[in-house]
Amino acid sequence: MTDLNDLYQEVILDHNRCPRNFHAIADATHRAEGYNPLCGDRLTLYMKVDGDVIADVAFEGAGCAISKASASMMTDALKGRSVSEARALFDRFHRMVTMPPDRAVEDLGKLSSLAGVRDFPVRIKCASLAWHTFKAALEHEQRTSTE
Ligand code: ZN
Repeated sequence: MTDLNDLYQEVILDHNRCPRNFHAIADATHRAEGYNPLCGDRLTLYMKVDGDVIADVAFEGAGCAISKASASMMTDALKGRSVSEARALFDRFHRMVTMPPDRAVEDLGKLSSLAGVRDFPVRIKCASLAWHTFKAALEHEQRTSTE
């Protein structure tokens, strides 16, 4: 059983209160905007890719605690990774938030604190918005929506 208190674990509250990498990147090589119409979450993702490495990644935007915390943790997790590592992490995160609630959660460090959204289908889009926007930025799309 997961209740809302579990969903809003301390780590999520902390990243919502003090989001990491919450700023624009003036000389970004990639950029995309994401919107989750179900909740009203909006974010702009900035990325600086140097060769095959994500040298810098940051975001701006407004949304619920889950969407903001997820974007904050994602930027922390992606910084310094190769593009192929980042894509693999996207797949693992996506699997974690969409698999049935009775399955064991893969250890993805802080990102695992978001596994509780599996019990709240509406919240899955909040948690995955940043990741879909990251993927769109990588593919050079300008906009993405979780719908
Ligand atoms: Zn939301």
